[in-house]
Amino acid sequence: MILRRHLDLARQALAHNTAGALEAEILLAHALESPRSFLYAHPDMVLPPERAERFHKYVERRSNGEPIAYITGSREFWSLELHITPDVLIPRHETESLVEAALQKVPVDACWRLADLGTGSGAVALALARERPECEIHATDISPAATELASCNAKRHSLMNVSIHCGSWCAPLNGRFSLIVSNPPYVAADDPHLDTGDCRFEPGLALTPGKDPMKSISEICSQAPGRLEPNGCLILEHGASQGEAVREILAGHGFVHIETRKDLSGRERISQGQWPGELNEST
Ligand code: GLN
Repeated sequence: MILRRHLDLARQALAHNTAGALEAEILLAHALESPRSFLYAHPDMVLPPERAERFHKYVERRSNGEPIAYITGSREFWSLELHITPDVLIPRHETESLVEAALQKVPVDACWRLADLGTGSGAVALALARERPECEIHATDISPAATELASCNAKRHSLMNVSIHCGSWCAPLNGRFSLIVSNPPYVAADDPHLDTGDCRFEPGLALTPGKDPMKSISEICSQAPGRLEPNGCLILEHGASQGEAVREILAGHGFVHIETRKDLSGRERISQGQWPGELNEST
């Protein structure tokens, strides 16, 4: 059977997904280990049986809801092609707003120390490393598998200014940082959102801190002052309805100049605060 016919059948099988037609192309290109443009150049090619079988397995997995990024093992974030496995959250577009907020704080030629807590695939840390090559970036994750994957992604992009450490939030860090960023788990364990879409296949640890959705954010806000330089900044991603709660937690831990930014869909998504330093803490 020719390529075009395989593609038509897969499009039909995936028609229940809004991006089904595009997904069929991505999966076929992946099965053929070729770029998508290959499909347009060779629509009448007869697929070798073992490639066809591979493609059908991918389509079947996708029909069962498995995220496309876990099937292809990759996802682009901030123009970086990242290797992705079910050990990590699939990087979201809204998290690019976290990178943007961080970059606004760091001058292009700064030689600062930056930290990313709960790095997962390394997406945020690697985007910062790419954009601020003079900075020294330290990323942590409690999952050994995530730490290994993030290190492999750093090597893959030859980003030598990133070090990945295994451990909870700030625990593996030494010294002080000008900026700390994090996209921690912030979905409540009983939120029905977790039973939908890609979330069903993602590691629970990366999505939810348990019953209290603010647990991880609170832990980070309490640990960060011990690792920030005076006037250093903490920037956090959070749920669209959590802006006010996050601002309160930041204020409760002594942060000042607290601000919330919206993501590209106009939802409160990123909150940040400045740590005035120990001296101000006692005034
Ligand atoms: N924004 C993600 C979602 O809604 C969750 C990311 C996270 O918990 N850090 O699926």
